[in-house]
Amino acid sequence: KFNTDLGQHILKNPGVAQAIVDKADLKQSDIVLEVGPGTGNLTTKILEKAKKVIACEADPRMAAEITKRFQGTPAQKRLEIILGDVLKHPQLPYFDVCISNTPYQISSPLTFRLLALSPAPRSCVLMFQREFAMRLFAQPGTKLYSRLSVNAQMWAKISHVMKVGKNNFNPPPQVESDVVKIVPKVPRPQISYDEWDGLLRICFVRKNRTLRSGFLGTTSVMEMLESNYRTYCAQNNIVLDDGPLDPADAAMDTDMAADEQDDEMEAIMDVDDEDDVPDFFREEADKKAKKLLGNPNRKKKGKVSELVRQKVTKVLIETTELCEKRARMCDEGDFLKLLYAFNQEGIHFS
Ligand code: SAM
Repeated sequence: KFNTDLGQHILKNPGVAQAIVDKADLKQSDIVLEVGPGTGNLTTKILEKAKKVIACEADPRMAAEITKRFQGTPAQKRLEIILGDVLKHPQLPYFDVCISNTPYQISSPLTFRLLALSPAPRSCVLMFQREFAMRLFAQPGTKLYSRLSVNAQMWAKISHVMKVGKNNFNPPPQVESDVVKIVPKVPRPQISYDEWDGLLRICFVRKNRTLRSGFLGTTSVMEMLESNYRTYCAQNNIVLDDGPLDPADAAMDTDMAADEQDDEMEAIMDVDDEDDVPDFFREEADKKAKKLLGNPNRKKKGKVSELVRQKVTKVLIETTELCEKRARMCDEGDFLKLLYAFNQEGIHFS
């Protein structure tokens, strides 16, 4: 009957449903967004406390069932059902509080979306699988620390509400769950979400690599930063010298290609330190580096890419001194320092 591909695990314990709604501290004037109302067990309890529920449901069968459940009741007029994937909705309607027994497949994108909302909702009370919930609280240096942890803790105050065992659901999921309350910070930190998240995306592509390697040693990142820098300059009427590299710099570019190759090697091996790479692999990589350098199609670098490289080097080595630190060890303060220093140099991430 239930489609577990859509994360349909119905909360059958009314005590847990009531506790979730109580934790949201709803006011009678509140508009609540419920993601994935299913058969409406949580919806009923929310409607007892709030002015209106906007329920977004991906499964038409469930949407039909919940419509039927409230048809002809006084609550019917206060329930709006949006049929479809909540993530595909280009703009969510205004709401004060979000409550969801979240379908586990969308936990991550849904949380990011809620954290990015401006103006932010007053609070979100969400049920997650345990490991996901733990990632929200993870601290630097721990295994579960990720872009999600940094973002969650940057934009909100997160608290654990309760543990929920699998037998409270029908059908029971594989793992235990946790209810978490996310209260966006007021006032909202005065930085751009897209810039901040853009920086974190780069740092956390491989959280065990050093920032030097993640930036200077990753061609695609440097190309993206160059492209953003060109946009920034165009918008600020800064004229760029777009000529080819001077011969001395071109020689450095050759060295850099070898460095890039080393960094790729580190990445492939997924080791934290180049010294950990076995010799046979190093020889292979050296061969590849020679081939790469001899490749006539290798994109020739110009003065602008060199300028961007100098700026990134200055930020990592001089301004922040974070070049040898790995993202998994960096805290919010480190990332803020990085973003500020990059922006001072005209380097942007969105
Ligand atoms: N709220 C109900 C409860 O607590 O009993 C059902 C929760 S069930 C874990 C998740 C619900 O989310 C299902 O009804 C499923 O169809 C719906 N769903 C899954 N993916 C969705 C998406 N991307 N957008 C909106 N709803 C979704």
